[in-house]
Amino acid sequence: MSVLSRVWRARGSTAAATTTTTSLQTLIFLSRALSTSCENTGIDPKAKAGAAAALPLNNNNSKKKKEGKGEGKHVQWVFLGCPGVGKGTYASRLSNLLGVPHIATGDLVRDELASSGPLSSQLVKVVGASKLRGKLDEIVSQGKLVSDEIIINLLSKRLEAGEAKGEAGFILDGFPRTVRQAEILEGVTDIDLVINLKLREEALLAKCLGRRICSECGGNYNVACIDIKGENGNPGMYMGPLLPPPHCASKLITRSDDKEEVVRERLRIYNEKSRPVEEFYRRRGKLLEFDLPGGIPESWPKLLQALNLEDPEDKQSVAA
Ligand code: ADP
Repeated sequence: MSVLSRVWRARGSTAAATTTTTSLQTLIFLSRALSTSCENTGIDPKAKAGAAAALPLNNNNSKKKKEGKGEGKHVQWVFLGCPGVGKGTYASRLSNLLGVPHIATGDLVRDELASSGPLSSQLVKVVGASKLRGKLDEIVSQGKLVSDEIIINLLSKRLEAGEAKGEAGFILDGFPRTVRQAEILEGVTDIDLVINLKLREEALLAKCLGRRICSECGGNYNVACIDIKGENGNPGMYMGPLLPPPHCASKLITRSDDKEEVVRERLRIYNEKSRPVEEFYRRRGKLLEFDLPGGIPESWPKLLQALNLEDPEDKQSVAA
């Protein structure tokens, strides 16, 4: 029995009313947090018609941020893509460039599991924090999706904390992952752009299995070296490893859900539950399809070009 149905059952005859209130409260909460960051997106309206080339050119936010003078651009972007495609890598780079928070729901779930913080006071009251976390752990380690309610709860809390710190805009990674989540998000705020990262299927599994995280600084690395030979008219593809600096090398850990059978299940679930989200945004003219041509050195400049952005630091590093 799911956590929520246990919650609702335990609440007996008031279950329906409680459910409505809980969902509504959560949504109002989410809506409030989201709506504060939805003014003045700075995105050319053509982006909404799918004209991705018309995205904001004037990305001097990163400079402002470094000088401590400005706040992030009010972009409200979403990253879609299969497990292992690199959503986190590119969302985090864009977040630094534009000075907007990168919010990854997978990180929120992992932080929740790692911390002793209660998930949702309402759920915890009935089920108990340890049981709830146990359940969450089980879902994630099997590669299944956490319930929409729990994810929205975690996301709302993260947005509220950001709002308190004066954050504006966001780049979401890992949310929405179901059409229902997309509908909920669409109902409470206006997403400017959805970037759908795509990578050849044969590279995805290897990228997940090669993923490593520094247990100390949280840095993301990848030890996989992907070298797909061109065949039957299809081009080859090379993605070199992203190795850690020496001070992280001895502290690398692997995510518990980056095991082969779990990755295969995550890919299956992506195709079943998340693939329709692409169509949801495609129909609304918000989807920017982006085929990754290779590793970061090849892909990052092309992604910036597709978004009509410039990375001054990247230019320097390429020139160096
Ligand atoms: P991936 O590398 O598969 O994209 P994430 O780091 O985004 O993984 O998410 C890890 C896990 O967290 C997922 O397998 C799922 O259990 C849970 N999760 C993250 N985001 C969501 C979401 N929007 N809806 C449901 N479950 C989620």
